[in-house]
Amino acid sequence: MSEAIGLILKAMRFSAEKHNDQRRKDSKSSPYINHPIQVAETLYSVGGVRDAALLAAAILHDTIEDTDATPEEIRREFGDEILDLTLEVTDDKSLPKEVRKQLQIETMALKSPRAKALKLADKICNVRDIVHFPPKDWSLKRKREYLAWTEKVVSGARGTNRDLEALYDETLKEGKRILGME
Ligand code: NDP
Ligand code: ZN
Repeated sequence: MSEAIGLILKAMRFSAEKHNDQRRKDSKSSPYINHPIQVAETLYSVGGVRDAALLAAAILHDTIEDTDATPEEIRREFGDEILDLTLEVTDDKSLPKEVRKQLQIETMALKSPRAKALKLADKICNVRDIVHFPPKDWSLKRKREYLAWTEKVVSGARGTNRDLEALYDETLKEGKRILGME
């Protein structure tokens, strides 16, 4: 138990340092770290996840993709298991955006159950953000396209965590209603 707490605190410290100068795209430019913390808490409180390595990976999930954190650094600080989980949910930034988006759809079903749960929590938080705290300059069309894309990614992540799926479905439904999609 205390080891798990130590691991989570270390992941929070590492992720907070790495995301230090980064902001979300909402109108208040919220601190980026709010997002990985929400994803980890969603896994814990909705998904019932008590797997400390997975919760740590949730806190770290955007560090390789969006900061100067390297796989080597994550391996050194957190070991192979947490690095592998983080890499499973990390896009290859050397590819064009449209290809990355398509790859998320095509590869989701092949991922581990833990990566699927993490991705579900990530998409729940992002759909909620797009609907309630959207990027300043996004058109209605772009928000709608984003929601529709998450639906395709999530279809590959089903069958792993019923409670997370149910929250995703509810969040998507509310989002579609607010954005006038049905
Ligand atoms: P982006 O990948 O550019 O942005 C969404 C990502 O930004 C999220 O997945 C999230 O990722 C992160 N993020 C940061 N702040 C927020 C926030 N406040 N709310 C939500 N997410 C946030 O989006 P896309 O390029 O995928 O655009 C969505 C759709 O719109 C696509 O289907 C694309 O085809 C289309 N599009 C439309 C355009 C138009 O003008 N009509 C122009 C460009 C694209 P993380 O979890 O990693 O933080
Ligand atoms: Zn994320």
